Amino acid sequence: MKLFIPTLLFLAITPSFAVNAQQPTIDSLIDRDIASLFSTYKMLHAAPELSHREDKTATFFAGELRKMGYTVTDHLGKFENPQWSGYGVIGVMKNGPGPTVLLRTELDALPVEEKTGAPYASTVKTKNDAGVVVGVMHACGHDIHMTSLLGTAKLLAELKDRWQGTLVIVGQPAEETIDGARALLRDELYSKFPTPDFAIALHDTSDLETGKVGYTSGYAMAGGNSVDIKVRGVGGHGAKPESTKDPIVVAAQIVMALQTIVSRENSPFDPAVVTVGSIHGGTKYNIIPDEVNLQLTVRTYKPEVRKRVLAAIERITKGIALAAGIPDDRAPIVKVNELEATTATYNDPQLTERLAGVFTRALGEANVVKLGPIMASEDFGYLSLDQKIPSVIFWLGAADPEKVKQSKATGVALPTLHSALFAPVPEPTLRTGVKATTSAVLDLMKK
Ligand SMILES: [Zn+2]
Ligand SMILES: [Zn+2]
Repeated sequence: MKLFIPTLLFLAITPSFAVNAQQPTIDSLIDRDIASLFSTYKMLHAAPELSHREDKTATFFAGELRKMGYTVTDHLGKFENPQWSGYGVIGVMKNGPGPTVLLRTELDALPVEEKTGAPYASTVKTKNDAGVVVGVMHACGHDIHMTSLLGTAKLLAELKDRWQGTLVIVGQPAEETIDGARALLRDELYSKFPTPDFAIALHDTSDLETGKVGYTSGYAMAGGNSVDIKVRGVGGHGAKPESTKDPIVVAAQIVMALQTIVSRENSPFDPAVVTVGSIHGGTKYNIIPDEVNLQLTVRTYKPEVRKRVLAAIERITKGIALAAGIPDDRAPIVKVNELEATTATYNDPQLTERLAGVFTRALGEANVVKLGPIMASEDFGYLSLDQKIPSVIFWLGAADPEKVKQSKATGVALPTLHSALFAPVPEPTLRTGVKATTSAVLDLMKK
């Protein structure tokens, strides 16, 4: 036995040493590609497209994947509105038996006029769905995500001898309107292409320094619902209130009463937000209008909390109108927008733990941070099919460390995602995104 053990160890260790000696490291491959990734990023940043109109971005993304040897299908995604021209892109690489891993990036940008002053800042303007000219900007950093995923897809295509299974790369349209993931599923994403064993995505953040990644186990991002309320009154002369039912006063009472849902009806242990983001009514000083329109966003984690909060919004709204003497046939109309809705994003704890270990080995312990859940929303959770497919979305630090220091010293927060001033630091953010994701896939699909 004594003789056998060293021989077996020798046999077991030698081949991997021999292979490693010849193989380039992930870092050296990223060094080789980083200049070209930076150009891709600048190009995408300067050419943002709104949700439902990501045609050029999708065409570019598909073309790059094709060049790398992926089998690419474009024009995936069935939307409610057939006029929308944006679409999803799926790239598949089969590499023998083994797990199927899905990696997702978003393709869309936001109606924000960029004010970062970056040399590659967007100057794009377009008409939105209402016909109003708006600036367009990658203010959520989806250009960072696309570039990072293209960098990852390229490395994995080159490193096929280090993994086995099937890789599915997803370019998803319409994340900002949270209907893109469902549009892909409606177009049979999981029957036209292999259903993944694991799904992974990343999102950049100004809350974390560039070079770092963050992770949250379990519930990570809230579910979101958009609600429209039409408060209908009886309009008339501003100097003759006694012959009207004033919808502005009723709307004001509703806005205040809605605040009691979270503070008085909801358990303090269940996170929930009710925000009235828009209120419009009236035309002139001395006219009591016929109606006032409110737009709300609701954020919750548990489905039962969501249901209770939405029911409370309707009950309170209708109750206040009733108390104001608004006739039944003019009762407020409360409409939950089924299109702009998403479930909470849940990171599978076992997969999260596994990836946290991979990230720590790849980036060093100081660069991997455990973070708490937030109330922003994502539609990536839909791709997990109600948590049936273990999924993780992790945070990619994108903030200048010097600015983070200043911000901590002064107490002034850095511009967040969706801000016209949001300016992620491309390097080493892109490098970290590629390294973290490539390392994760090589671990999940290792030979
Ligand atoms: Zn966003
Ligand atoms: Zn985003």
